[in-house]
Amino acid sequence: ESKRLKNSAHLFRDAMQENYLRNVNIEQALRGAIENHELHMVYQPQVSTDGSFYGVEALIRWTNPRLGSIPPDAFIPIAEESGQMPTLGRYIIETTFADIQQIQHSLGISFSTSINLSARQLLEPDFATYFINKMQQENIEGVWLTLEITESLLIEDTSSVLPLLHAIKNKGVQLSMDDFGTGYSSLSMLRMLPIDELKIDKSFIDAALTSKNAQQMAQSIVTIGKNLEMDVVAEGIETKEQLEMLTRFGCDRFQGYYFARPMDKDALIRYVKGTFFP
Ligand code: C2E
Ligand code: CA
Ligand code: CA
Ligand code: CA
Repeated sequence: ESKRLKNSAHLFRDAMQENYLRNVNIEQALRGAIENHELHMVYQPQVSTDGSFYGVEALIRWTNPRLGSIPPDAFIPIAEESGQMPTLGRYIIETTFADIQQIQHSLGISFSTSINLSARQLLEPDFATYFINKMQQENIEGVWLTLEITESLLIEDTSSVLPLLHAIKNKGVQLSMDDFGTGYSSLSMLRMLPIDELKIDKSFIDAALTSKNAQQMAQSIVTIGKNLEMDVVAEGIETKEQLEMLTRFGCDRFQGYYFARPMDKDALIRYVKGTFFP
């Protein structure tokens, strides 16, 4: 018995060590990722209730020759902890701006683009100035931009973040609360921040068809959003049944594999042309 325990302790330690080493590897490889052109952005369509194309969410992708493809969930936190988020964040914004200019030009339409912001980016004192300058340089109007933030922001000092958010919002940019319902203090956060859009977390959408409880949660989130005059977006829609349920609840927009996976800019151009303007 004690030998078994010892073995499992070893296994645990080995797993910890392996995980630690992997994180160190990721941290180091990430330092060269931009220069080595290992990163790119992909875009996942958002569809309105009437079935029309609304816009996209920009998501980052990283493939390293040695480590393979690393999901953003794995490397964004490491980028934050190792002080690489300012550089990575700028790469995300500048690449997305350049890509969407090209996509919109090619399609001959303007559409909304959502960019994920890490809480760390908002703590950079010159972030608002930087973002607004980039918008102007690239000639992108605020009405076509949404910034997605998460509740982790609340852990940080909101008093410094508020003026920054207002400065950006004054340029017409919308603010979206991502993964709504998964963190804590969601409601106080909604009261404090100038939010335009709620994104219902995928976990509620996943469970909504099988759990009465999750279904009621999803419905309540839509009601909260509507009462606060926000748009409500359901993400992670994978089935027709989910789409029908969330439509019934009153969601304004949908995103998920049921419609399309995230795709690179050329694939997005083909997809939008083929699906919405055939
Ligand atoms: P998120 O912001 O909640 O993004 C939605 C995630 O759900 C994306 O995963 C997307 O590919 C995935 N997804 C969308 N529809 C479906 C579906 O129908 N089924 C399933 N199973 N998944 C779906 P991804 O791209 O791996 O990103 C994971 C997380 O990493 C994001 O969650 C976000 O928190 C973070 N992230 C990704 N790109 C960026 C970025 O450019 N900046 C920042 N700060 N974070 C990012
Ligand atoms: Ca998001
Ligand atoms: Ca989300
Ligand atoms: Ca998420």
